[in-house]
Amino acid sequence: MASSPSSQIPSCILIVGSGAFGLSTAWALCRNAQYKDTTITVVDRQPFPTPDGSSIDTSRIIRPDYAAAPYTRLATIAQKRWRTDFAPEHYHQTGLAVTAWGPEQKYVSESLANVNAIGTDETEVLKSPEDIRRVSGLEGKDEWGSGSTGYVNWSSGWANAEGAMTWLREKVEALGRVHFIQASVKKVLINHRTNTVSGVRLTDSRELKADLTILAAGAWTASLIDLRGICKATGQVLCYMPISTTEEAALSKRPTILNLSHGLFMIPPSQGLLKVARHGHGYVNPTTIPDPESDSPDATITISLPYTHVDDPFQHVPHEGQKQCRDFLASIHPSLATPSRPFTKSKICWYTDTRNGDFLISYHPTYKGLFVATGGSGHGFKFLPIIGDSILECIEGRMPEDFRGRWEWPRERVPEEEWAGDGSRGGPVGMVLKEEMAKSKGKL
Ligand SMILES: Cc1cc2nc3c(=O)[nH]c(=O)nc-3n(C[C@H](O)[C@H](O)[C@H](O)COP(=O)(O)OP(=O)(O)OC[C@H]3O[C@@H](n4cnc5c(N)ncnc54)[C@H](O)[C@@H]3O)c2cc1C
Repeated sequence: MASSPSSQIPSCILIVGSGAFGLSTAWALCRNAQYKDTTITVVDRQPFPTPDGSSIDTSRIIRPDYAAAPYTRLATIAQKRWRTDFAPEHYHQTGLAVTAWGPEQKYVSESLANVNAIGTDETEVLKSPEDIRRVSGLEGKDEWGSGSTGYVNWSSGWANAEGAMTWLREKVEALGRVHFIQASVKKVLINHRTNTVSGVRLTDSRELKADLTILAAGAWTASLIDLRGICKATGQVLCYMPISTTEEAALSKRPTILNLSHGLFMIPPSQGLLKVARHGHGYVNPTTIPDPESDSPDATITISLPYTHVDDPFQHVPHEGQKQCRDFLASIHPSLATPSRPFTKSKICWYTDTRNGDFLISYHPTYKGLFVATGGSGHGFKFLPIIGDSILECIEGRMPEDFRGRWEWPRERVPEEEWAGDGSRGGPVGMVLKEEMAKSKGKL
């Protein structure tokens, strides 16, 4: 029997994962009078703030700049909240220059058209590398780094992600409605006779029972339910460098520069730290695990799963990723990329990619009592103020009209090599984390 909204309000809701999707959902539930008698529990494998969760970092871009109009609409609503009553002290509206020199220019022009159609943002077309250099305050003249054309949206910005998540966590805790548990979920409790989910089993064998279980475990969700052909974890590179107060003062009011042709971007520095990263196809990490939907100990599946600095405290970004970040920095700000200025920290952060960049916000098609809220695809953070409300609408069977056909459980599973993406990713394809780490030996 396919799972679908129940006419009854659940008496007990369990959310697995306290990242942007899970925490925002808990917040939405707490503020909705219909759920005043519902017990709400959030379980996460890590203490908050999750050290390797994708919602925790120095910065995340907050933009309505999308080639897909529904996300432009939704991000515009979220951004109004960032500007006013949602963690405003963590939001910085310094603009976003979206550029390219390759086929990704299509995404750039579609995004500009969508933003202009909303009609509230201040945009400026950048017709040449010189225009990009001028608005972004770039020192370097290398078009590979800057991109050749693009536009700047002065109404976009960035947020201190960890600061905003902490702000929200405190708001939720202050309401006194949510039981937060730190424990790792091992298995979803599925009754295969009735196709019903009744909660989860933890790694310490305890069980947490619920009428409705919401999986919001980010890139780890695929270890709890079979998402082959629907979601996969891809590792993305982040590199950090300390900079002086003078350098920070010169760059902190400049827009983020995001060149979609290789996916490399630089967010304005803050608190003495500059971040260079890549919005790319990422690394996969194929891992064989017990089939999460089977009771047989012999059944296994192989999927890409996160491997982070929590698994290996000495983990660093492979040589190719660090080199790309450095080459990008050298081409846009050569004075920051001299040999005496290494990146002092690097990390791999995991996207939950879907085949077309859409989120997965849906009841499970088979198991009653199971809902999945994931598939952030490298762009979910900006929706933190409102994604929980959207998730709740979907739980209640009121998916926003323009997301129908995007957020629902896909009708078919598509082999990963056939995924089209959302057109925003550049750079190398098909990289496997272990192979890139092996190639890095002796180079870092
Ligand atoms: C490098 C990088 C850059 C990004 N840049 C941007 C950006 O600029 N703008 C933007 O809007 N978005 C951006 N994103 C995307 C955005 O950060 C994500 O879409 C969003 O944070 C996903 O939130 P989540 O709740 O799905 O996942 P997470 O924040 O990862 O939360 C999942 C939680 O589930 C927990 N969990 C996992 N397994 C278990 C288990 N078995 N038991 C219990 N708990 C478990 C984890 O500990 C974690 O806390 C970026 C992402 C990355 C990785």
